[in-house]
Amino acid sequence: DGRDTTWKAQVRMLGDAILVTFEDFSATEEVDQMRRDFVANVSHELKTPLTAMIGFIETLRGPARDDAAARERFLSTMDREAQRMHRLVEDLLSLSRVEASERMRPRGTADVALVLASVLTMLSGKAEATGVTVIFDRPADPVLINGDADQLRQVFSNLVENAIKYGAKRVELRLAEREQIVELRRPGVVVDVIDDGPGIDSMHLPRLTERFYRVDTHRSREVGGTGLGLAIVKHVVSRHRGRLRIASSEGEGSVFTVCLPREP
Ligand code: ADP
Repeated sequence: DGRDTTWKAQVRMLGDAILVTFEDFSATEEVDQMRRDFVANVSHELKTPLTAMIGFIETLRGPARDDAAARERFLSTMDREAQRMHRLVEDLLSLSRVEASERMRPRGTADVALVLASVLTMLSGKAEATGVTVIFDRPADPVLINGDADQLRQVFSNLVENAIKYGAKRVELRLAEREQIVELRRPGVVVDVIDDGPGIDSMHLPRLTERFYRVDTHRSREVGGTGLGLAIVKHVVSRHRGRLRIASSEGEGSVFTVCLPREP
């Protein structure tokens, strides 16, 4: 029926016979549990800023009513909380759009060099404000693949934004065309996003692209993270039949590598 199905096979000995049972694992308790966890996470992420805002509204109506300085302070905190909810809802929508499109081959043509250049332009203000240098040696000719340029822009802006958010001083984008990408056994492009930030302890790497997984929840919130950025990256890359590799260790910076086949 077009669904991705995961089968769980069990092999048992029954006397001399071997009994193999297959179970459709996709609709089982564990998948239901994952859905429930996701809903619980979303509710929690929305509830925290909402509770704070309700508290501030009460204070503004009561004790802070005639205190102009306090009012200003509370309003700017409320603004920050509302922006946080806004980012979360935007990322949830992006994630659900990417998931909905995941079974459809991307149809358009994307110039990966142009995608990277536009990400750089888009984030130049943020980089400047935080004193981060972003480097990209753009090739003279277009680097074309079959892909969804908007979604790819989101991939690289999430990766560069993360590097900026988590404290890099220098971010470098490297783009290379390959006649054979080993993992994909196909021609395509490889983009490295290299930062000199704090790096990530290797124990976190396997779970980093899970929704709402963060190394440090407090830090992520502080810098405006939603915990969904890398989940979106993973789904877009998978839709393009590409690969995401993360190489990092604490104190050594990080390298996020995106391999994309020329034809998904
Ligand atoms: P968030 O919205 O929290 O940034 P992401 O899914 O984008 O969520 O990233 C998940 C976690 O991975 C982050 O909370 C952060 O701990 C870690 N992380 C991502 N990118 C980097 C990076 N370039 N340097 C250090 N840590 C990173």
